Amino acid sequence: MLPLERLIREMIAAEGPMRLDRYMGLCLGHPEHGYYMQGDPFGAEGDFITAPEVSQAFGELIGIWCVAAWQAMGLPDRFSLVELGPGRGTLMTDILRTAGKAAPDFIRAAQVNLVETSPALRACQAKAIGTGVSWHDALTTVPHGSMILVANEFFDAVPIRQFEKRDGRLHERVIGLRDNQLVLGLVEADIGSEGRDGDIVEFAPDRNAIAGAIGERLAAAPGVALIIDYGHLDSAPGDTLQAIRAHGFVSILDGPGRADLTSHVDFAALGRAMANAGATVHPGLTQRAFLLAMGLEQRMAMLAARADLATQAILERQTSRLAGADQMGNLFKVVSATSPGLATPYPFGRR
Ligand code: SAH
Repeated sequence: MLPLERLIREMIAAEGPMRLDRYMGLCLGHPEHGYYMQGDPFGAEGDFITAPEVSQAFGELIGIWCVAAWQAMGLPDRFSLVELGPGRGTLMTDILRTAGKAAPDFIRAAQVNLVETSPALRACQAKAIGTGVSWHDALTTVPHGSMILVANEFFDAVPIRQFEKRDGRLHERVIGLRDNQLVLGLVEADIGSEGRDGDIVEFAPDRNAIAGAIGERLAAAPGVALIIDYGHLDSAPGDTLQAIRAHGFVSILDGPGRADLTSHVDFAALGRAMANAGATVHPGLTQRAFLLAMGLEQRMAMLAARADLATQAILERQTSRLAGADQMGNLFKVVSATSPGLATPYPFGRR
């Protein structure tokens, strides 16, 4: 048996059923056996592929977006360029390369702060990005002041709780033991919620706390945030907790720490948390709408112009993968928040 599964069984035997946020936190972030602590889960050989790993164009367009944001902020000569959960460091590398070409002063002004808990991934990021960057376990220790913050597929990995109404009473979904096996169960909930019988409602206090901290920073100093993830722009009931290993779905109870455990992001909840803290939140877009408005097709055409036929076919597949309505294009959403008074960043607010 995996050491983490043994540990979780022991915890449940000693303390009773375990909340999903605790389970998710252990599976992903246990210092020794957590999923992200083991090494590099990305790429064709790994468990999943993220947008920056699909094509350099993704990070290039975000780099251009960041330069425009920096201009809208009044070209501060010092600001914090923050990324939450940078994975392999590919997105930040593409942002810095693109921004460096478009606006060398942006690079001189940027202090790169990476929020990453995994030592293995910090090592990947150091290799990709090079020197002159700082790492943090959480946003709390990132220096305050002007900020441009990006987060791609970060919030989906931050733990959630799930509630289910049965016979008019609210229950929390938890993990218990039956015949010494991990099983999903329900216990009476300690907090309330609306919703109809049978609905599963997800609630992510940890995500809301991080979004609230972003909102506070945007309210206190000029800044922008760009959050990209799979999820929904409006809150809706539904069980979206999923485990992925080797590009396929597995049970969330199967091999704790060996699968990526995530859930869809409720952008309405994130937006409320940032707005309540004083930031201005701009209505979200699909990744498809965002990337097409940012010029994905034009950028891919430029890359294709100097490529051979085989590479052109690859570029076409990458475009579909990132922006195709039936691929990442509609499932993924993009939300931006800014300091109050800052102009709405393009392409948000575009009709
Ligand atoms: N943004 C990258 C990686 C996404 S995977 C990409 O798009 O490819 C999620 C990333 O968030 C990993 O780097 C993981 O180690 C990190 N992470 C997950 N939970 C975290 C937490 N609570 N605090 C800091 N980093 C976290």
